[in-house]
Formats: sequence, C-alpha cells, structure tokens
Amino acid sequence: MTIRLFRAGTFLTVLLLGTRVLPAQAAQPQHDQPQPEATPLPSPLPQAKDVAFPGTLRLSVNATDLAHHVMTMHETLPVPQSAREAGDLVLLYPKWIPGGHAPEGTITQLGGLKITSEGKPLSWLRDPVDVFAFHVPVTKAQTQIDVDFNLLSPVTDNEGRVVMTPHIVNVQWNEVSLYPAGYYSRNIPVQASVKLPHGWQAATALRPTGPAVGDTLTFGTVPYNTLVDSPIFAGAYFKKIALNAPGGVPVTLNMVADKPGDLAYDDAELQIHRNLVTQALLTFGSQHYAHYDFLMALTDELGRIGLEHHQSSEDSVSEDYFTDWKHSFPQRDLLAHEYTHSWNGKYRRPADLYGATFNAPQRGSLLWVYEGQTEFWGNILAARSGLVTKEQGFDSLALMAATYDAQSGRSWRPVADTTNDPIIAQRSPLSWRDFQRSEDYYVEGQLVWLDADMMIRKLSHDTKSLDDFAKAFFGTNDGSIIVSTYTFDDVVLTLNKVVPYDWARFLHDRISTVQKRAPLNGLEAGGYKLVYTDKENAFEAQAGKNYHRLPLRFSLGVIINQKNGSLGTVAWDSPAYKAGLAIHDVIVAVNGDTFTSEGLVDAVKAAKSDKTPIILLVKTGSHYHTVSIPYYDGLRYPHLERIENTPDRLTTLYSARH
Ligand SMILES: [Zn+2]
Repeated sequence: MTIRLFRAGTFLTVLLLGTRVLPAQAAQPQHDQPQPEATPLPSPLPQAKDVAFPGTLRLSVNATDLAHHVMTMHETLPVPQSAREAGDLVLLYPKWIPGGHAPEGTITQLGGLKITSEGKPLSWLRDPVDVFAFHVPVTKAQTQIDVDFNLLSPVTDNEGRVVMTPHIVNVQWNEVSLYPAGYYSRNIPVQASVKLPHGWQAATALRPTGPAVGDTLTFGTVPYNTLVDSPIFAGAYFKKIALNAPGGVPVTLNMVADKPGDLAYDDAELQIHRNLVTQALLTFGSQHYAHYDFLMALTDELGRIGLEHHQSSEDSVSEDYFTDWKHSFPQRDLLAHEYTHSWNGKYRRPADLYGATFNAPQRGSLLWVYEGQTEFWGNILAARSGLVTKEQGFDSLALMAATYDAQSGRSWRPVADTTNDPIIAQRSPLSWRDFQRSEDYYVEGQLVWLDADMMIRKLSHDTKSLDDFAKAFFGTNDGSIIVSTYTFDDVVLTLNKVVPYDWARFLHDRISTVQKRAPLNGLEAGGYKLVYTDKENAFEAQAGKNYHRLPLRFSLGVIINQKNGSLGTVAWDSPAYKAGLAIHDVIVAVNGDTFTSEGLVDAVKAAKSDKTPIILLVKTGSHYHTVSIPYYDGLRYPHLERIENTPDRLTTLYSARH
C-alpha cells in the first residue's frame, strides 16, 4: 500500500472519554465479596486447518445502487459435516486485509445479515469477543445455507473510503463476502458474479467465464485468497491499453475516470507506462503473474487508494493525471510502487505477514523490506521509465532525506518499532506525526536500501548493486505465482551472496536501534550531499501547489493550507512549535496584514535581514492571539549537491537499464 488514508473520526472523543479518571473506591476485603460466576462464551472459533473445503461457495454481488452507496449480496455455502455435528457453523468477515497490515476490515459497514436454510431463518449470533465472527446454529440435516447481507459503503470520506461514485465502482471482495472458519482460506473455492450499472465496463485480474449476461459478469471458480486478491474497478468511462512487449506476458493499463475527457493521453505518455514494465522486468528478471492488470482510477471522487495485489493493483490518481501531465509528476511513482509489490510483498512475503486466513493476526516486523524496498524500487523505476525525470527523482530524494533526518521522533523510536503503527493507529490522524514518526519504515526503509545499494557498489568496485539483490531475491522461479515466504536471515543470506559483509549488523543498526540522524550515507557514497538553500525544491513546490499547501517545513517548521491559512503540520521543536503553534491553528494575519502565502514567504525573507520577529495573528478555535516567532535563518529548502571528483553513482542508479 502506498496511500495513507487519514480519516476524520472520533479520535477526540476517545481521547476525552477514554482517559476518564474513575473516582477512587475504598478497598474491600476480598472474602466479603460474593465471587461472580464467569459468563461462558459461545463455542470457541474453529482453528483453521490446511484441508480442502468440501464444496464451492457461490457469491453474487449487486453493485448497481449508486444512489445509496449500497451493495447487496447473496451467498450460498455448503455446510461441512464437522460444523453440522458441532451444531455451530462459524462465518468470518475478513479482518486482516493484505496490504493494509492492520485489522482494518470494514465490519462497521456490514448490515442486513439474514441467514436461511431452505427458506427458514436461522438465528445467528455474533461472537461477543471477535465481532468479525458469526455463529450459525445448524442441524445435521442442513447441508447448505443461504446468506444475504449488504455493504453500507461510505457516502463521504469522513465515514471511510468511498467505493461507489456516480461513475466508478470499486468492488473489494473482502468487503462483500463471508467465508467459513476452520479452513485455510486458500482451500475454499468460490464462484463469484457481479451485477454492474448498465453499460459499464469492468477490469479485474479475475477472468470471466464468458461475456456479460445482461449486466452480470460471472467469473471462473478460484480459491477465496485469489478472489480477495482480485478486486474490480468498473466505470461508465473506461479505456484499456496493453503495456507488455509483443509476445510478452499480458500487462494491461485499465483506466476509469470521473469524466470521459480525463482519459486523454498521447503516445509519449503511454510509452512511458510501457517503459515501466520493461524496466521492472530488467530489474527483477522474472514475472510472478499469468497476466497483470493495473486498475487505475483518474478521480477526485473515489476514495484514494494504492493497494497491491499479486496480479493487479488498485491505483487512484488525480483526475488531471494525463490532462495536466506537466504538473502531475509528484504522484507518478504510484504505479511503479504498486507494480513492484507483485514481486516484493505478494510473491516474496515476510513469513509473519502471511496468514492462513483473513482473520489470523499478521505481524509486520519486516515491513521495512516489504514497504521500504518497494518505496526504493518505486522511485527508481519511476525514474528509469521516465515517469519522472532524474532531476525530479533527485528533488524527491532530497525532500525525503531532509524530512526523515528532521523527524523528532528519532529521539525515542527505532524504525523497527514503527512497523507496529498500522495496528496501533490504523492510519488515523496524528497531531504530532513527526514526533510519533508514524510508519517511518516506508521512507526511512527507502533510505536504508539506498545506503545498502551504495555499500554494495563500493564493496564490489562498482560491479554489483541492489539490482543483483533484486534478481537473486525476487527473481527466482520465473512464472510461479505461489507465495514464497522469508525471514530476516533470508534477507541477510541473499545480501551476503551478492557481496560478503556484516549485513546483519548493518541492518540491525539502522532498523532496530535509535539513531539521531537519518541514514544519509547512501547519498554521499552516491556522490551527493544534502544541502539547504533559499531556492524552492521543485518536487516539494509542485506537490504543494497540487494540494494547496505552502511548505515551510525546514524554516518555520510548518506546512500551511494556502486556502485558509490553517496549519496541517507543525514540526516538534521547530520555531513555530517553540512559539506555541499547533496543528489546526489558523494564521489570520502576518505582521499586521491579512494572511497570504506570498505575504508569509516575504515575512520570512524580511526577518532574515531585519532580525525582527515575525508577528502572526492566530485563531485557535474561537480564540484569537498574537504569536511572535524570532526566526532569522530565512527560507530553507532541501537539495542534493554534487560532490565533485567522486563517482556519480546516484545517476547510474536512476538511469534506465538496457
Ligand atoms: Zn506499498
């Protein structure tokens, strides 16, 4: 996954009510208290076994109710003999969604559950401890049940991720299916069908059994794991382009859009997307899919997503991705990132991240490989294919290096601890993100792998690089789509085969210990150093414009919403922090004049020469107050500066392979 979903929620309520201090009570001698009986729980949930499920689930999804954002499901399940003998069939709603690294199943959106046997209702009971599990009382004679329910999908992003818009539907099978407990989910066969709005077209890694009947597509029987790993993007406005070389394994760019005019691209832009496939194959030396489908939505309405699958990926970009090609480069590593996951994450997967079912807990101890090295290759492949220029890639790298070097949370957390963050925070908004250094395993992982790449180059006298690791680790068993799990020791073993070194210590020091500075050795070994000047970083500036943000992260320590002056980020211990500012404060005036971005930038420049504090009128809630910031270092933006008379290894790394 690459896109972080920040959902507004009831976090404040939890903070206010969850920490309520209860009045102290006088201690009572225990023997005076009657001992309560423990309330028995329903039957324990059956343990998943690696045996074949007897029969096939049949699932039909109606995704046509765009007005209410409601999907309606009907499912037919054979009841296994073991469940009939126990008198208890347990159905599970997927909880641990691959790629999310957290128990983020959309159980809050499930409604209207009705379970019947030959038309007679069965009185199901939700497990009171695991609320994703439903107990269904069955008799020995009941060999099949029918399940009907709805997905009450979000109408706005405030309620979760929007999956239905007037022109696009995103069916994620984990949101629209229940499956039986007691079996490895890969052993449960499913035949699914979906009814889409009239006249729409759909894309998915699933293959239909034939043309649509009416508006319904029916897919071939696949394991439940494959179904969940094969979502659908469908839309009224749809285009499909082949990206593979002639005769190669099919790779398709499927596009849906809010408006037909957004599906406008030229040959050069398409060629760049074809280059991505060529460059990935040159880097990894293998393919682990029978066919690959990019599911790309050009949209400002569908909920944002970047989610990897083995033979596809869900990729949302802004609606002007093609129509404003000159300015859309800050988001153009997305396809490269998610495509890389087909090798790193889906084919090769950390052993502790692989669950037997979608309700077995996952652990993310190796996410700095799964996401960190994917972040690395996503950026490199974006540059090698031409999705971004080398200069744009370097500006992005400078911004990442500066941002993570400045993370104040470096003082207390190693990167390894941040791999727990998807479970801790489930990507909810954080007031002091840089002090929490939430999920730093993505970008700091990227910097660690840059360091490793440059170390390999130095040790091998520039005959080897992380490309050799990629081929050795991800390039095995060309054509196989069977998941291959790995541990920390496997990573170290492969690095040592590329070039012998104390890689275990190298990784341990950078990942598992508190480090005051970001791992920037890779920049210097690559022939560059990180510097700050008063000239804008073009990547940061364009990303700021695209999202209406004024980035003053490395001067005042703030990122400001240009539309209304509100603070989206205040860096811990920065000049703004020391002056008493916090996230969501609104700058109303700068040195006595109404707030404008230009006015604030001019004030930062003027303070450098005048040595006079910047005076801000700030609104906090309904309270107005004046803040004085004695900051005199002027504008500061990060850049990479060439170290003369050293090998330019960074340019070699970012250049296309042939
Ligand atoms: Zn990812």
